Amino acid sequence: MEFDVVIVGAGPAGLAAAIRLKQLAAENGSEISVVVLEKGSEVGAHILSGAVIDPVALDKLIPDWREQGSPLDTPVTEDRFHYLWKDGGLSLPTMLMPPLMSNHGCYIGSLGSLCRWLGEQAEALGVEVYPGIAVTEAIFGDNGGIKGVITGDMGVARDGSHKDSYTPGIALTGKYTLIAEGARGSLSKALIRKLGLDAESGPQKFGIGLKELWEVPAEKHRPGLVQHTMGWPLGDRTGGGSFLYHFGERLVAVGFVVHLDYDDPYLNPFKEFQRSKMHPRIREHLEGGKRISYGARALTEGGWQAIPRLVFPGGALIGCAAGFMNVPRIKGSHNAMLTGMMAAEAAFAAIGEGRAHDVLEAYPESVAASSMATELKKVRNVKPLWSRFGTRLGVMLGGIDMWLNTIFPFLTPTLKHLKPDFASLQKADQAKPIEYEKPDGVLTFDILSSVFVSGTNHKEDQPVHLRLADPSIPIEKNLPEYAEPAQRYCPALVYEVVEEGGTLRFQINAQNCVHCKTCDVKDPAQNITWVPPEGGDGPSYVNM
Ligand SMILES: Cc1cc2nc3c(=O)[nH]c(=O)nc-3n(C[C@H](O)[C@H](O)[C@H](O)COP(=O)(O)OP(=O)(O)OC[C@H]3O[C@@H](n4cnc5c(N)ncnc54)[C@H](O)[C@@H]3O)c2cc1C
Ligand code: SF4
Repeated sequence: MEFDVVIVGAGPAGLAAAIRLKQLAAENGSEISVVVLEKGSEVGAHILSGAVIDPVALDKLIPDWREQGSPLDTPVTEDRFHYLWKDGGLSLPTMLMPPLMSNHGCYIGSLGSLCRWLGEQAEALGVEVYPGIAVTEAIFGDNGGIKGVITGDMGVARDGSHKDSYTPGIALTGKYTLIAEGARGSLSKALIRKLGLDAESGPQKFGIGLKELWEVPAEKHRPGLVQHTMGWPLGDRTGGGSFLYHFGERLVAVGFVVHLDYDDPYLNPFKEFQRSKMHPRIREHLEGGKRISYGARALTEGGWQAIPRLVFPGGALIGCAAGFMNVPRIKGSHNAMLTGMMAAEAAFAAIGEGRAHDVLEAYPESVAASSMATELKKVRNVKPLWSRFGTRLGVMLGGIDMWLNTIFPFLTPTLKHLKPDFASLQKADQAKPIEYEKPDGVLTFDILSSVFVSGTNHKEDQPVHLRLADPSIPIEKNLPEYAEPAQRYCPALVYEVVEEGGTLRFQINAQNCVHCKTCDVKDPAQNITWVPPEGGDGPSYVNM
């Protein structure tokens, strides 16, 4: 199938790009064919975010989004920030933060719902949006760039044989292909490696974000309240913190981010999240309520200095596939949309000039000249300082650096990220197993009942989509050296070490996978590769 532009991923980046392409065609009285391919069973099914959304990109893309029935209808009214210790904490005045950290003017909502709505807007403009289709490969052209993509085969049994339902993948070619897979995309990772796109950027850094959606009693609901915390239950050496947002009809989004450069092989991000909800400043918002959903997703944290080369012949990386997340603001969706729009404008102009399959240089030029670049440069040292100096000192130095960069732009040198996240674990013999409390089933939960409310489903009889380069590494290397951390960092209990007849075996419960991509990032041997399972499989997030 041939299109002018093929877009991989119906997140904010991909959908903003698709809408912008069609708007430009309408403004110019021309035609452009645009297809968006999405692995979730429907648009939004695999989207998990906070989310406090800066409307700067929506205002540009669909200026009357408020009148058009968009699901973003809770403006931020109160911004709280606490440093926590067990059972207590310190409220930090928001005036200590540089103005760019303010949530004033932002909206709280579900990014998944916003994407569903954006998908409808795209379809109304004539974009072909195909959910339930996983893209597995790029089609390379003679110039070393890409000419399109191939979607995954359907109906393949676990042993590789073809079932009655077998349908081979299809090739979709485009004059330009925009990769909008979000953090640690499988195709993006392969392209970055093959085309050396990260030759001049530092290693990308990641966090794992875990989230629950709660329905709370009306008397507890404070629509518009935004709360962030740092500190307990994480130790000073581990970056991360909690978020809690009141929005919509008695809904509270509560979540926890752990930076994936943590060093303790016994740390369990899921259990740290559960523990965080026991703190009085978090539990007071949830007590009397009911958890209705759960999920997890990696987020990019490398910032400006970790953004790879954005373009290559025939294509471009947009949104968090490249990594435009603003770490101290915990916001990336507006930048994802802005980059999608900039790439769309470059592709539209190129197609108008009769070009195809070449390099869209205008896109990185627009990014470099944008206010988004200014914003990201101001906060570029926060994450490296946090990683080097820990939470208390690192965040304070990061705050000073942000103020300096706000008053005297770019006075301070750019700090590099020292190492990739997989290289940060200590050996197990230098650490102590952590004792976590048992879940109470009211405020805190076990992992399997959590996966259940994520609506995750994979057809059992299909090839395992968590590929081990060397199947012996988990038991022979990772277990003795790091107590096989996959058992703990995976937020869906996909990986287990089980004993069978006196022998230890590494078991992969692929059907539980919520597609967060943490294993692909954190495995210390870089032995695990996440590849897309059959299109439509995975979580079925609603309102996440
Ligand atoms: C816990 C958490 C909290 C966050 N909080 C906020 C916040 O409050 N505010 C904010 O602005 N940002 C927040 N972010 C960041 C924000 O979610 C991201 O910046 C944003 O989602 C990036 O958009 P994207 O379009 O690049 O990627 P994504 O939103 O990840 O979308 C990518 C889409 O591509 C699809 N896809 C991926 N690979 C393939 C493939 N091979 N084939 C087909 N489809 C594919 C996915 O299923 C998905 O639908 C948060 C992130 C997390 C994880
Ligand atoms: S298997 Fe990997 S991608 Fe899937 S949920 Fe576990 S850590 Fe995330």
